[in-house]
Amino acid sequence: VLAAPDGRVVLTTDVMVEGPDFRRAWSLPAELGWKAAATNLADVAAMGARATGLLVALTAPGSTQVALLEGIADGLAAACAALAPGCGVVGGDLTRSPTLTIAVTAIGSLDGRAPVLRSGARPGDVLAYAGRLGLAAAGLRLLFDAGEADVAAVQRLRAERADLLAEQLAPSPPIDAGPVAADAGATAMLDVSDGLLLDATRIARASGVVLDLHRAALDADVAAVRAASGLDLQAALAAVLGGGEDHGLLACFPADVPLPVGFRRLGDVRSGEPAVLLDGDPLAAAGWDSFAAEH
Ligand SMILES: [Mg+2]
Repeated sequence: VLAAPDGRVVLTTDVMVEGPDFRRAWSLPAELGWKAAATNLADVAAMGARATGLLVALTAPGSTQVALLEGIADGLAAACAALAPGCGVVGGDLTRSPTLTIAVTAIGSLDGRAPVLRSGARPGDVLAYAGRLGLAAAGLRLLFDAGEADVAAVQRLRAERADLLAEQLAPSPPIDAGPVAADAGATAMLDVSDGLLLDATRIARASGVVLDLHRAALDADVAAVRAASGLDLQAALAAVLGGGEDHGLLACFPADVPLPVGFRRLGDVRSGEPAVLLDGDPLAAAGWDSFAAEH
């Protein structure tokens, strides 16, 4: 039973399937639950809403150990407690299937705010971001390099690059920044699920504007990726621009309002044919597309 004081409810859903979305060789059960919650909480936050509950539909092979399911449940609860206090699992379903999948539907309340869509950015706005960029993709790249079969290599990676892998396996996006951005007057917002360029392109197209990213504004992100992963400059920049799974909040704000705490300026919003530029130069919209190729 939904109680929505202003009559509007925010809903989002995101499914994680073993194989395309996660590998048991890389993730602990609690990390799977954490990530399933965090990705959905970020989608609620990107509307300017506060998450109030999760519905979780889980499928697993009949041979699955109960401890695995308990671990997933623990991770879901821990992520809610850490990222969206007051939110928790309110229902769901469990059934047998050859494939382990975790499908989460998140419910959110706008608490009287107007929803922040992708389509409201206007020329003259400031493009800003809350969260980290590129680290999740860099962590995934190191996991792919280690492979699935070499258990020792994965364990060594988990020990040596724990912080970096956490960005990929159990991310902590700035969920509370969503309602804060809405209150500050954000004109457009989404969470960066599929890569900065691709998600910025979604705002540019929906709003009919040009988003011009400042390369210098990404220097700290590129440096952080290089320091945490050992990737070279080009690979680090590619992770920052196109990596995906950052789940930070990309938002536009009117130029005359102070950026809310947690947000930093990444660029400008201008008029013109919808596009994303880097220091004024066109960029191809690279990013994650589930159907682009076999992953
Ligand atoms: Mg998302």
